[in-house]
Amino acid sequence: MSIAGRIAEIEATLPEGVQLVVVSKTRSQEEIMEAYAAGHRVFGENRVLDMVDKFDALPKDIRWHMIGHVQSNKVKHMAPFVDLIHGIDSAKLFEEVNRQAQRYDRVVDVLLQLHVAKEDTKYGFRPEDINDFIISGAIQECTNVRIRGIMGMATNTPNEDQVATEFGRLKLAFNHLKKGHFRKWEHFDILSMGMSGDYHIALELDATMVRVGSAIFGPRKTV
Ligand SMILES: *Cc1c(COP(=O)(O)O)cnc(C)c1O
Repeated sequence: MSIAGRIAEIEATLPEGVQLVVVSKTRSQEEIMEAYAAGHRVFGENRVLDMVDKFDALPKDIRWHMIGHVQSNKVKHMAPFVDLIHGIDSAKLFEEVNRQAQRYDRVVDVLLQLHVAKEDTKYGFRPEDINDFIISGAIQECTNVRIRGIMGMATNTPNEDQVATEFGRLKLAFNHLKKGHFRKWEHFDILSMGMSGDYHIALELDATMVRVGSAIFGPRKTV
């Protein structure tokens, strides 16, 4: 099946209002343009400089999401154009996004990344630490960043119960923050979870955004 065909197939399974992020990391401009020609506009990359190259080369109505781990010193490269940064995992990174957004007179949308997987390699705040960050004052001072929601990844395992438990923790944290701290923030409305292998589980747990790469483009040769 074509790239456009697979996107259409996935879109057809998504509940109303759920956003598909087509994960285009490692993919060529030609592959991305196939999805673009089929009408898709939201793409996810995990390396800042790759995303900048693609932004420069491709149509300007593409909305670029940074889904990977971000080093603070790379924020400046994407600050002029990035649409949503999924992986805010420290106060330092949050403050740097604010500083760079100010330079470009923008308000940049971000998600707080939560660590719920068993693997040590996955970045993110621990759910028990997120409150410390929220009450730290950084959020009130950083007026050029808008926290739109939560992002997370489940453990890479065939055990669907475990994956559902981990997505359940993300959902709980999202609802908790929405009811508590962000009650007055009408824009706190994104729960980004689910990839090619597990987005069907994430949808059962009310994901509002799924990030899908290999189910659209085929297996990746590199990460
Ligand atoms: C690569 C990646 C994805 C997409 O993974 P697939 O298994 O190819 O769908 C989703 N989210 C993040 C954070 C990723 O790095």
